[in-house]
Amino acid sequence: MDLQGILEEIAYALAPRAAAGAGKVADYIPALARVPAAHFGIALRTRDGHEAAAGDAHLAFSIQSISKLFTLTLAMQTLPDEELWQRIGREPSGNPFNSLIQLETERGIARNPFINAGAIAVADRLVTHGDAKRRVLALLSSLCGEAVVFDEEVAASEAATGYRNVALANFMKSFQRIDNPVESALDMYFHQCSIAMSCAQVARAAGYLCRDGAHPLEDGTQVVTDRQARRLNALMLTCGTYDAAGEFAYRIGLPCKSGVGGGIVAVVPDTLSLCVWSPGLDHSGNSALGMEALEMFVSATGLSVF
Ligand code: GLN
Repeated sequence: MDLQGILEEIAYALAPRAAAGAGKVADYIPALARVPAAHFGIALRTRDGHEAAAGDAHLAFSIQSISKLFTLTLAMQTLPDEELWQRIGREPSGNPFNSLIQLETERGIARNPFINAGAIAVADRLVTHGDAKRRVLALLSSLCGEAVVFDEEVAASEAATGYRNVALANFMKSFQRIDNPVESALDMYFHQCSIAMSCAQVARAAGYLCRDGAHPLEDGTQVVTDRQARRLNALMLTCGTYDAAGEFAYRIGLPCKSGVGGGIVAVVPDTLSLCVWSPGLDHSGNSALGMEALEMFVSATGLSVF
């Protein structure tokens, strides 16, 4: 299959629409509001290491909630299952990613690790185990074979305006679901969201999810076990795109994780990982053209888990 040609066709079809301003850039984080909407990039890496890319695939963007996939991976590597899942569920929330509503009725237990509350709870567990910020950068740098860094300006911008995330953390703390000071859990959370990576880097970094947990670049190294990789893919499919997870499964049928920076990473198990980026978002906070691009990719290749 001519994967490079397919990515080029998708970029050719969608880049003009990004330039015309499809979707709405996340403006509730001031540093993200300044990102021009007119970007479109797409990249993939196959199970056996072939890479393809088109459009702005090598430009770094704010990975935002895509980071939740990698902090969960780190938590799976670090913590026994009982400790990890004691305070976080594994069900889709059906609510916006920053909603407070279920936390009260469910006594501070976040529905899943891919909404903000769940990711803050994961960040808290990682802080308890030490050196969390350095470890997430080390994991990502190793996975994509290039140095990955925080964008301190984005992290500071979120820390200054992340009122909902502060509320979520305090609310969970009131039910004794957060061990560390909320400031420490949030500092980790805001930093992980600020990580800047390109589509090519994210597609490569997610490679272990289409290789039964095996490191994309290092032969013989497991990032997670094959069972954990299956579970991460299952959580992405059911919870990775917030309250649009059903629509994503219906239209695309791949495990996906999105972020309000406009990136979406997707996995075709046993075959390839890909990442698309376009900053304009739809009403659920997912990249509007990113979703279309994935739909086009699946139609062109016939690759889907269904
Ligand atoms: N940093 C963002 C927030 O906390 C992440 C949300 C997202 O990407 N969906 O609101």
